[in-house]
Amino acid sequence: MNYRHSFHAGNFADVMKHVTLARILEYLKRKDKAFRVIDTHAGAGIYDLSAEQSARTGEWEAGIARLENASLPDPVAALLAPYLEAVGAARNLGKTLYPGSPWITRHLLRRTDRLTAIELHPQDFEQLKQLFAGDVQVRTIHLDGWLSLGAHVPPKEKRGLILVDPPFELPGEFDRLVDGAIKAHRRWPGGVQALWYAIKDRKAVAAYRDALRESGIPKILDLSLMIREGGAVPTLDGCGMTIINPPFVLEEEMRLILPALARLLGEQKGASWDAVWLAGPETGA
Ligand code: SAM
Repeated sequence: MNYRHSFHAGNFADVMKHVTLARILEYLKRKDKAFRVIDTHAGAGIYDLSAEQSARTGEWEAGIARLENASLPDPVAALLAPYLEAVGAARNLGKTLYPGSPWITRHLLRRTDRLTAIELHPQDFEQLKQLFAGDVQVRTIHLDGWLSLGAHVPPKEKRGLILVDPPFELPGEFDRLVDGAIKAHRRWPGGVQALWYAIKDRKAVAAYRDALRESGIPKILDLSLMIREGGAVPTLDGCGMTIINPPFVLEEEMRLILPALARLLGEQKGASWDAVWLAGPETGA
């Protein structure tokens, strides 16, 4: 396991992922009934952007720093407020901190909601465990996140979200995403799933989307953000979030948010975004 998220914390991909996560959580909070979030690849929970690893790449400077320095018009500002408020709350603990997905989730939970945060890397898990020690609303588990899609799904609340955010360091990640989504959907047909993916290899992305189209899962919204067109050498040109059972307001919200992110985080001309139904409402499937 070579991947360490501390090199990438707060970059454009984190921003896109965490904004989407916050919108889904805000929607889940519209109903009184408690929910659970299962974060299968949780990372360390919070990152110091001034530490050596983040400072070495400086990726956050083209991510969260751009967003925080921008003046955003409404309704985009209002839609981003829960996410930016969570980032601000982390910053209050330490000026150079950036929150990861479990921290943002925890910050946005109500008293009755719960988080299960799973991480496999021993060091990141140790940090995660310490971060949430004594917090009765959070359970941290040292486990292969893919196994949790069987072992911890469905949660007893029968309401909530599975966030799957793998590192894309090993071949076969797209296959694991599709197989995992099908397995989790079979066990918990009403659960929302948010699957993050890297856009480097366009053929692999197209095959992944096709596999989901053919999965039989009835409602799938695919959101993507490209920060550049991409050239011959595969780099992280963009990223996507595939949402199974998306909240009914999410497409409309992301159609407002994604153009603003493309404008702010795009590196050069060629930045773009998309929101496409792989199955469900718009496709008529
Ligand atoms: N979700 C985090 C966030 O948004 O702040 C970032 C997660 S990072 C992209 C991916 C994480 O998955 C890394 O911390 C890595 O150690 C962990 N990881 C890699 N393989 C795993 C596995 N099979 N099960 C659980 N975690 C894994």
